[in-house]
Amino acid sequence: MAVVIGIESTAHTFGIGIVKNRKVISNIKRTYATETGGIIPSEAAKHHFHNKHEVYFEALDKASEAGITEDKIDAIAFSQGPGLAPCLLEGMRFAKELALRLKKPLIPVNHCIAHLEIGEIEKAKDPVMLYVSGANTQIIAYAAGKYRVFGETLDIGVGNFIDSFARYAGIGFPGGPAIEKFAKSGKKYIELPYTVKGMDISLSGILTNLKNKIESGNYSLYDLSYSLQETVFAMLVETAERALAHTGKKELLLGGGVACNSRLQEMCKIMCKNRVTGKVKFFCPPKELLVDNGAMIAFLGEKMFKAGIKFSYKELNKVDILPRQRTDDVEVLWKK
Ligand code: AMP
Ligand code: MG
Repeated sequence: MAVVIGIESTAHTFGIGIVKNRKVISNIKRTYATETGGIIPSEAAKHHFHNKHEVYFEALDKASEAGITEDKIDAIAFSQGPGLAPCLLEGMRFAKELALRLKKPLIPVNHCIAHLEIGEIEKAKDPVMLYVSGANTQIIAYAAGKYRVFGETLDIGVGNFIDSFARYAGIGFPGGPAIEKFAKSGKKYIELPYTVKGMDISLSGILTNLKNKIESGNYSLYDLSYSLQETVFAMLVETAERALAHTGKKELLLGGGVACNSRLQEMCKIMCKNRVTGKVKFFCPPKELLVDNGAMIAFLGEKMFKAGIKFSYKELNKVDILPRQRTDDVEVLWKK
């Protein structure tokens, strides 16, 4: 039996989750947003600094309903990377303070793999994950002892791409939910570049094309939003299907904030159902576990803790953030 607390702070969200025996006990977060303009890393870090205590006490409060108090915590997990350095630092500092005060071990967790592992709550066993968040866009699956990246964006993450388009159209951060709404009123499909390269995609050319179209004043934002979704989501679904074909896996899991988009979910479902070589099961966790959150960090943290992957509170100087950590750099020792 283990109680693990997870701290998430890679970008816009400061989240704390508590997990006990693979069950999410609490999952609280505060998210940095702007009226106009994008995410400023130092401002997001300040946001985390100012919200961390409130989030922590709210998470403990929720856990107390299940009889879990601070003294029952066995380990402290935190997002080590990848992410924005100033934001990661806030999370790590808070995690280290807690480890020292409670005299409990610290567990550094890879954020992207946490998005995948939390799929287990939905009963996904060995999925291909289409991970579509702000900064990250990757197709990840477990193969030969590691989580491997089968495909990814060659330039910007799909969330950042949508946010940049939205920002150009005068919408604040995050732009994704607004663009989804606009897309629902779109009527005319406007052809855009379609850039799939093997299992990778590229988005910066499409962004330039869209910006030019906004500037020309000849297109409605509804039609552009609709066409953006139809084109870019088709690219994502195509590459995810290619990874399914390559690995022979029978499950597709969505992860990341862009996965909240109902049209993307629908397109994935259609692909999974219609594959000629056999159906693939589709999994999409509830929104609170799809977006950046502390519960997924605690969930993977608990697995690592049980596998003995941890640092004593006496050796905290051995642990640092890894802003550019890659999914396939991580030794997946907890799965053995
Ligand atoms: P994450 O980094 O995983 O928390 O995801 C944040 C990203 O998800 C931001 O770029 C948002 O614009 C994007 N996002 C959130 N909701 C939606 C949505 N309904 N449709 C498209 N993108 C979304
Ligand atoms: Mg994420």
